[in-house]
Amino acid sequence: MSQDAPQQDHTHLFDDARSRLEEVFEALEIARDARERLMQPALSLQISVPVRMDDGSLKVFPGWRVQYDTSLGPAKGGIRFHPAVDQLEVTTLSFWMAVKCAVVNLPFGGGKGGVQVDPKQLSRLELERLARGYIRGIADVMGPNRDIPAPDVNTNATVMGWMSDEYDHLVRGQTPAAITGKPLTLGGSFGRVAATGRGALKVLDIWAKREGRKPQDTTVAIQGFGNAAYHFASLAHAQGYKIVAVSDSGGAIYSEEGLEPDPIKEEKTRHQQLKGMVYCDDSVCHAKGVESIDQDELLALDVDVLALAALENQIHEDNVDDIRAGLILEIANGPVTSAADEALEIRGIPVLPDVLANTGGVIVSYYEWVQNRSGDRWTEETINQRLDAVLEREAATVLDRAEAEEISYRKAAYRQGIERIAEAIRERGNNQ
Ligand code: GLU
Repeated sequence: MSQDAPQQDHTHLFDDARSRLEEVFEALEIARDARERLMQPALSLQISVPVRMDDGSLKVFPGWRVQYDTSLGPAKGGIRFHPAVDQLEVTTLSFWMAVKCAVVNLPFGGGKGGVQVDPKQLSRLELERLARGYIRGIADVMGPNRDIPAPDVNTNATVMGWMSDEYDHLVRGQTPAAITGKPLTLGGSFGRVAATGRGALKVLDIWAKREGRKPQDTTVAIQGFGNAAYHFASLAHAQGYKIVAVSDSGGAIYSEEGLEPDPIKEEKTRHQQLKGMVYCDDSVCHAKGVESIDQDELLALDVDVLALAALENQIHEDNVDDIRAGLILEIANGPVTSAADEALEIRGIPVLPDVLANTGGVIVSYYEWVQNRSGDRWTEETINQRLDAVLEREAATVLDRAEAEEISYRKAAYRQGIERIAEAIRERGNNQ
């Protein structure tokens, strides 16, 4: 499936996500109340975002904000702009955020937002109007103690800056802690932009160390080249990992010798697409040592690590048998379906799951929220040290649990997260 498919069927996505919840309910003695609460979102808001286009016409884009569970704290999660976004996708992503925050012990519940739009078709001003309109639509249910949005697919610090400014106007006061992932000048945190990639590398390192594996002997293919993927690639390359392939929505590139992420990023910024970087006519490519390959070929490469950093549902029943990687690292949310997960488990291919491997972003979002609430500003060094320390601790408990209970890393992470949420539901008492 292409990473940028205009429409996808998300009917099975939420059921698939919930099937992992049921596995935890069966394995652990989770109280009845928590089970009931966790089977559906706490709040689901659908809005229409009218945008005045540059040509004077009006376009209306559907949008959502879902708060899956807020037992551990205010809802937390990004906002996605994508043509395939729908309510079920946002609900599923908010569920994953709830599990994720609990796995790394943050005082947050899970939320997510999305607008069904192709942002590449909008001018910069249209995009700003859309971002502001979205915040006007969800303002009543958000806030620093309620629900704190952040960037996700196709949104970034600039978009968060517009949203934060809009929120300040609506509440008539500066409230930086209402949104994270902001530009540094508007109360953003050092280290936030690179945090998801950095955290994923840290989790990979923790695993590799236990396995006695050295970066220099480890080849990595990366599906995706967005913010998380690029920072992961750049930091992993600096540490000695050999990045042999990367892809984007238009195609993939491969080099047996290893690719250099930083020049690739510069070229991609110039050409918009990776594809344009390899000049091929009749299958002869002029960029030395770099071949253009299909996105599906990238997934089937014989590499030590396959890092999935695009969208959900990328490894499924139909292509799981093609996987030859030694390990899967989930940097995106939900890139492996539960059916594919089982097949990988049977074949002995371990998966470092999203709810652990991509928590770097939300962990540093938490630090941003803490800094905004206290008026403090921490150095990048402090942020990175704290991020590393949290991941060392929480990843160790997940990996230890997987070993002790002889289960997959994903099952261990889910057990850790759901146990914490269920405990919070119980401690809140009988509030119905
Ligand atoms: N969108 C990111 C995620 O899926 C970050 C969320 C946040 O920082 O709140 O984890």
